[in-house]
Formats: sequence, structure tokens, C-alpha cells
Amino acid sequence: MSGPGEYFVNKKPQENGEHEIHNGSDPCRCFPAPENLVSLGQCIDCHKAVAIARRYYSKVDGCKYCALACHKG
Ligand SMILES: [Zn+2]
Repeated sequence: MSGPGEYFVNKKPQENGEHEIHNGSDPCRCFPAPENLVSLGQCIDCHKAVAIARRYYSKVDGCKYCALACHKG
């Protein structure tokens, strides 16, 4: 489960054009390299992180490993 902590969005889009959101307090095996991270700050949950990430990118999605509650596919 993802929870409160600092969330990040990947600068690099996936093949489908979505930028993945990751939980810095529970980093997964596909956590982006530091140079590809944009901090979304401390978020109460991944849904808040998604809302902030949309300020940067129109297509965002939660990581299926560390932000599963916000992963759409
Ligand atoms: Zn992740």
C-alpha cells in the first residue's frame, strides 16, 4: 500500500505517454533515476500526488508497484 510521504513523478513518459508517479517512502524496483525525478512534495496519499502531477503533465498514472491505489493501467 502507498501512504503518506514524498511522491515523485517521472520526467520521462512511458511508451503510452503517461508519466508515472512513485512513492519515495516506499520506492519500488522501477523507481526512476534521480535526474528523472520531479518532486511532488509531501502528499497524504497517491491521489493527492496525482493531482499535483497534473500541473506538470496531462497524462499521469500511479506506479503499479509503489502507488498501486492510483494505477489505472
Ligand atoms: Zn514505483
